[in-house]
Order: sequence, then structure tokens, then C-alpha cells
Amino acid sequence: MADTLIQNAGLVLTMDEMRRAVPSGDVLMRDGRIVAVGRDLPAAGCTVVNAEGCLVTPGLVNTHHHLYQTMTRAVPAGQDAALFGWLQVLYPTWAAMRPDDFFVSAQVGMAELLLSGCTTTSDHLYLYPNGTRLEDTIHAAQEIGMRFHPTRGAMSIGESSGGLPPDDLVEREADILEDMIRVIDGFHDPRPGSMCRVGVAPCSPFSVSRELMRDAALLARDKGVMMHTHLAENDEDIAYSLEKFGMRPGQYAEDLGWTGPDVWHAHCVKLDAEEIALFSRTQTGVAHCPCSNCRLASGIAPVRAMRDARVPVGLGVDGSASNDAGNLMAEARQTLLLQRLAYGAGAMSPGEALEIATLGGAQVLGREDCGSLAPGKCADVVIWDMGDVSAAGNWDPAAILLAGPTVARDVFVNGKQVVSQGRITTLDQRALARQQNQQMRALQERV
Ligand SMILES: [Zn+2]
Repeated sequence: MADTLIQNAGLVLTMDEMRRAVPSGDVLMRDGRIVAVGRDLPAAGCTVVNAEGCLVTPGLVNTHHHLYQTMTRAVPAGQDAALFGWLQVLYPTWAAMRPDDFFVSAQVGMAELLLSGCTTTSDHLYLYPNGTRLEDTIHAAQEIGMRFHPTRGAMSIGESSGGLPPDDLVEREADILEDMIRVIDGFHDPRPGSMCRVGVAPCSPFSVSRELMRDAALLARDKGVMMHTHLAENDEDIAYSLEKFGMRPGQYAEDLGWTGPDVWHAHCVKLDAEEIALFSRTQTGVAHCPCSNCRLASGIAPVRAMRDARVPVGLGVDGSASNDAGNLMAEARQTLLLQRLAYGAGAMSPGEALEIATLGGAQVLGREDCGSLAPGKCADVVIWDMGDVSAAGNWDPAAILLAGPTVARDVFVNGKQVVSQGRITTLDQRALARQQNQQMRALQERV
């Protein structure tokens, strides 16, 4: 494959160790890696992409999602509920979904993320109705061309045992652990530049047992994969933890082996100062999901305090039934707005929010090879067109989160162009949307 040269960008924001910003910059890519970032790089033999008037950034990294939920967006009965009530509205519908629904909904979620400049996404799939398997989503990622961190989620405590989900959506714990091993052995690629890394992810303290939390952690460490779950999402969540376990979520996590640089927790809206210190000491990661937290009125996560304590923080769009969009660039803007609302106008700069969306997410997912534009890093690169009305009159292109597009012009994943001129190149995105709407109507008939 010929080298690709992104040429003469208005500005290249590298997010490298020096946080270099290169005016009139070029980015050279070869065999899925960045070769050079600089000015006037030689173009001979390269496929040249003209980036005049554009901002170039590393690809964004999404650290929390439930891709299957793109099938159930804006469901009327769940539009105005808080977390537990919202889940109870949607569980029966999710139980009626089939493997091809999981495939198509994953692809829709990924298409939406790619268009927003996101090149790597994790997914937390914690229910497997009607023969669904994790690879239904892995195949979706391979086809569309996205770097993917699927996690084998699980629920094991149904309503009859005091849990939140209905009994027909939970699995036996022995079966869960066995399937975790199967998908790790079958699909996890630990090598640098990997396009697929599998993690283990019991759904939440209110839907699995302590034993499964502990066993999943032991399994993950034995296999050398990462661990993910939901933690301290809202006040109901904290109350459940205090009532059922007699302790706060941070201590629960620590007791069961759920802290460390190989662990990341979604939300963490309600972490207190002691828990932030615990996460800092253990380098436990956080997936901050600001739009979902607003949508479900969960609260404002203390991201400023986490960052000051050097807790690794990345961003997540969260499931598409609680956002209900999947635009990671919009999450970055929402992050800075919420931190300012909570802590003052100087609490977070546009540059820091973009850093959390790129480098921060890569750190949370254990990807030293992603999140920045520097020689040897994965060629995950986004070109933002600053020549249209959304950025017109912008004095500082680096502050794209204040005034600029939230849909990318061009996106490269592993050196391959998957978005061109704002359209997915690897599939017909309108046909994909039609397909999903057709399957959504069939799902409505079944429930
Ligand atoms: Zn979630």
C-alpha cells in the first residue's frame, strides 16, 4: 500500500509528549503507523490528502458504550426516567433482540462514532438473548473498519434473587466464565497495533454476585485482559451498595480486586474524596459519560478533582438508549461545559477536554500506541474541516470544542480511510440506517 500524506493542514494538534501544535503541518502514514509529523514532508510516491484550512487531531477514543442500544433510542416510556426505572422499561425489549439485531445496531453505533472522529471504541455487552454472542459485534467492527475493545459483560442476579434485571435476561455464572474464556481465546489480540482486544465486564454491582466479580477479576488477570464495569453512577446506586454490601462502591471494588491500571469503571459520578484517592493510588481508570449523566439526571462527575489527582479519565458516549446520540466530539464539549458549571469558568480548557477525549481514553484502555500523533503510533487520524459555517469566525482552531464541526471530514483508522467527506467509505450508511429501522419495526412487533 502506498504511503499516505495528509498535507498542509491549518494546524496539527499532536497530543504528543510535548503537546506540539504544528501550523501548516503534514502527517505521514505507512502500514498502519504514523511515520512523521512536521512541515513540508516529501510527497513523492504518496497518496496525498489535502488538508488546507483543516484541523488535524488524533482519533478520539470511546471508553464506554452499549452498542446494541442504538436499536432502542428515544423509546417513549423510557424518555423521562432515571437509571433504575429506565432499565426496567427497556429490559423486556432487549430480551427480544436477536443476533442480527446486535450486529446491525453495533454497526450503526460505530458508524455514528466514526463520523464524530472516534477511531477506537470499547463496548460493554452484558446481555445475550436468543443465541447472541460477542462476535456478532466483533464482525460488525471488522466490516466497518474500527479499532474495537469489546467486553464480555454479564448479568447473573435476576429479580427473584433481589437483582434488578428480569430472570430471563440473566445467565448462570459458570456459563458466563466459560464464555469469557472462549471469547478471549478466540478474539483477543494483545499485540501493539491490535484492532481487537477483549475485556471482561460483569454489568454492575446490582446485577451480578460478589463471587462473579471476584472470579472475573481472577480470570482477567490470568489471561492478561482488562476489566470494566459500572460504578457509583447515581444516588440510587450508592444507596444500593450501602444497603446490600454495607459499604461504598469504592471499597466494594477494592475488596473484590477491581482496582488497578487494568480496570476502568464507567460513570463514577458519585465518587467521594477517599475513593478518588484510591483510584489515584491504584491508577484505576474512569469512563466519564457526561451526556448520559445529564439525560438520566445522575449528576456531574468530579472530573476536575480526578484529573488533579492523576486518575486516568477517558470519555464515553454510554449506551445509545441513555444519550441518545453517539457523538464523542459532543461529549468532549459537554465535559468542559459541565466541569465549568460545577467548578467555575476556569475549571477546564477546550484543549484539556480534547486531550481527555484522545490521549485520556487511550490511557484508560491501556493503549500506549493510540491517542496521539507521533512516529510509531497507530495511524488513527481525523481531519476536521474548519472552512464551513460552524467554525467561521473562530480565532483559535485549537479551541474546536468552542466553535467547530462535530462531524469529521476524513477519518483514518490504522492508516485506512473509513470516512471521506463526511461519509463512511466501508459501507452504505443510508442502507445501514434503513436496515436498522426495518429490524427495529420487527422488534416492536415482537414486544
Ligand atoms: Zn453504561
